[in-house]
Amino acid sequence: MSKIAPVACQPWCRDGQGHTGEAHVDDQWCMSPDVWINLAPANTFEGYPSELLSGRERLAVTATRRTHVYRGRPVVQIWAEDRDIELWLSAEDARALADELVAAARLIEEARR
Ligand SMILES: [Zn+2]
Repeated sequence: MSKIAPVACQPWCRDGQGHTGEAHVDDQWCMSPDVWINLAPANTFEGYPSELLSGRERLAVTATRRTHVYRGRPVVQIWAEDRDIELWLSAEDARALADELVAAARLIEEARR
């Protein structure tokens, strides 16, 4: 069995060897190590979960580069494990989202004081 040609891995890729064990070029994904966020249990909030999330959810946040996503540009991926939903954001969009998440969380926390 011939191996697939290696790709140039991103510096943060957990494989780092060009993904030559994959069967197809579209499977040669660079992925950073997962960072997991365990969400509050569904019974924490009335009305939770949303249609998007199951309530048994944890989210993985990674950097990834895939040939079929944003024409191979590296993106930030948020993966909802239980529903297998992926959200891909440019680095700039991920920073904007992070800023707005922190701002909204700050509003809630400051109102508690
Ligand atoms: Zn890689």
